Amino acid sequence: MAIASRIEDPAERERRLIQLEISISEIVRYREIVSSLGGSVASPFVERESPVRETSNSEVKPSSTMGDCHSCGAKMTGDLDFCPVCGEF
Ligand SMILES: [Zn+2]
Repeated sequence: MAIASRIEDPAERERRLIQLEISISEIVRYREIVSSLGGSVASPFVERESPVRETSNSEVKPSSTMGDCHSCGAKMTGDLDFCPVCGEF
């Protein structure tokens, strides 16, 4: 936005700002769709720096971790009574 507002030609600046607004509204709409699916689709906005199945690094393990999913091996947390990855109870 800050870069677009520095464009000197008013028509070109307006065009760029509209493009940016369209892009932002698309992102917001996509996030709403993703969240309405109940987390069954991994959010593209979450960057995983380490593999989901990594078990050796205890420093990043959340205190609420209850163990690994018996179906897919993903971490289970105390907040959920089902696997956040595969949905297994
Ligand atoms: Zn699982």
